[in-house]
Amino acid sequence: MVNSLHVLEGGSNAVNGIWTQFGGNLSFVCLAISLWAHFSIQFQCRSSTQEKITFGIVAGGASVGSIFLAIEFNSGIYIDLRFAPLALAGMFGGPIAAAFAASLAIAFRFVVGGAAMIDGIIAILAATGIGLAGYFWTRKRSPEFRDVALLSLGLGIALVASMALLPTLVNAHVLASIGFPLTSLNCLATVLGGFVLLKTQQWELERSILVTAFSQSPDYLYVKDRNSRFITVNENMTRLFRFRTTAEMTGLSDFNLMSPPLAEELYHLEQQVMETGKPLIDSTERIEGRFLLASKVPLRDKQGRVIGLAGVTRDMTERTALERELRESKNLLSHAMANMSDGIAMYDGKGFLIFCNDQYRDAFPLSGDARVVGAHISDILRRVVETGERPAIAEGDPEEWMKAASASLHSNKDEEVQLHNGDWRSIRTRIAGDGTAMAVVSDITATKQAEIALRLSAEQLKNLAETDGLTGIVNRRAFDETFARETAGSTRRNTPFSLLMVDIDRFKAYNDTYGHPAGDQCLRVVSKCLRHSVSRPADIVARYGGEEFVVFLPDTSAKGAMIVAEQFARRLAKENIAHSGSEFGRVTASIGIACATGAVLRTNPNRLLTEADAALYDAKTQGRNRILAHSPNPDRHVMKDAG
Ligand code: GH3
Ligand code: MG
Ligand code: MG
Repeated sequence: MVNSLHVLEGGSNAVNGIWTQFGGNLSFVCLAISLWAHFSIQFQCRSSTQEKITFGIVAGGASVGSIFLAIEFNSGIYIDLRFAPLALAGMFGGPIAAAFAASLAIAFRFVVGGAAMIDGIIAILAATGIGLAGYFWTRKRSPEFRDVALLSLGLGIALVASMALLPTLVNAHVLASIGFPLTSLNCLATVLGGFVLLKTQQWELERSILVTAFSQSPDYLYVKDRNSRFITVNENMTRLFRFRTTAEMTGLSDFNLMSPPLAEELYHLEQQVMETGKPLIDSTERIEGRFLLASKVPLRDKQGRVIGLAGVTRDMTERTALERELRESKNLLSHAMANMSDGIAMYDGKGFLIFCNDQYRDAFPLSGDARVVGAHISDILRRVVETGERPAIAEGDPEEWMKAASASLHSNKDEEVQLHNGDWRSIRTRIAGDGTAMAVVSDITATKQAEIALRLSAEQLKNLAETDGLTGIVNRRAFDETFARETAGSTRRNTPFSLLMVDIDRFKAYNDTYGHPAGDQCLRVVSKCLRHSVSRPADIVARYGGEEFVVFLPDTSAKGAMIVAEQFARRLAKENIAHSGSEFGRVTASIGIACATGAVLRTNPNRLLTEADAALYDAKTQGRNRILAHSPNPDRHVMKDAG
């Protein structure tokens, strides 16, 4: 446009020829842009400044060529498509390309000269400026076709403005006569050229993505010709074989890189792939101690002939070693778990069983089949309830138990549970940091039974130690402990505590007359009578020594004690054990009673014994077979004839 446009005066003939001549001009501009698009790929490996300068020169050249082919519309006024390449150079090449293109065009326009030279140069600057505006407009993204259309529109407006405002052009009435073809063809050239450049940019991007993916792949990639020679390899391949550039490997084959037998083997393998056309997928190769997984695919030309192969080799050395280590440690672990005596189970944070060994299942004979990976703890517990595997649960509310047991799965705890068959299991649960619950189950039946047996025998031993062998009542050894405990209880409750001291009359004579075994039997009968004479659970009958007995009556007054004593005397009388050596003709006993409460009991409980003994002594001296309750004044002993 710019240029020249002009003028004309006139003639409509001139205008008719313009479209044809513009056609040639348009072809030239488009050809120049297309050639640039084609060769620009060559510049991929050069610096981007070099590329921009070259683009500027090409665009400038196209502009110059267009001026060269310009139509001289009027004297010194030329019309052509010089503006389109300048706008494109600005938008796609930026300031550097724009500077070079505009400089070339201005220089040439200057050389051409003519009436509209200044206007022409101004229009060149305007078109380049529009292009640069497009460059800055799309700077942060890739230009799209829409941007090219806008550029074309902007250029059209700039041209119309030039024709309407620049004086030489205004004088020549350029706008009126050829404004439309000039503007529209420059716009069209911009759109066409822009479209080509957009496509080129897109292809370059795709290509560079592919090239990057190929060259920087972490695997070993290569393409070989029909004779198994490298056509290209990626960077990893050059590193593996210690080359500096991929070009150094082009033309080499495996025979240049590895031992002859190995190269031979690979060569045959590859030739087989190419001859049969069947790809080789994931075949294992061992090269220089490394473990590789190789895939080779035949490459075909358009006619389907195999022309080479593409290969991908993955280095599995580290991975294989890792896998082996993992396998070994897994084996070790499974071995340990399979052979350990305990059952092990792991539940995830939501209560699902994620692992367990056979011992875990076997540890619970009735619910074992529910203990499978994937089962939820609540289902397992339900089975435990349904099968009655843990009888203790049935004693409470099974639903409550299941709820509580589910909820407490994820807490550290040690439990000992008894199964339906009497076996015992210890269940130790520990929580890991990630919320997993690990349960270790051991069979503690033997230990538990031993423990129970031990406890029983300890109890029995204690009983034995505290029991008199002859009469089966509390013996002298346990007497002191029992006495202290019971008097302390009454002191605490501030209740009276009574004590009977019982001695069989003339027992020595009984032994002498009837023999020692009969004496023993007599002692048993007397102790039975004593036991039957007390009724409260707290009352205790103890053998104090020889043929002497003591009866503790907690919370009992002297009066109550007297009743017990009388009751005993009656029972003994009822037994009516013959005793020829006694003045009563039968076995009788003398009984001393003492009673104390509160402070007396607390400060000196033993006083009770002394007092009861004193009362007993008095009973003996007063004629035997009687009951005496202690009183501070011996003359006022309460006395009952037991007979
Ligand atoms: P008293 O009326 O004054 O109590 O006269 P006693 O003969 O009962 O007096 P003493 O306390 O001197 O006699 C106790 C006798 O009890 C001595 C012993 O022969 C007898 N004896 C003590 N322990 C046992 C025993 O375990 N079995 C038998 N058979 N006799 C025993
Ligand atoms: Mg005695
Ligand atoms: Mg006696």
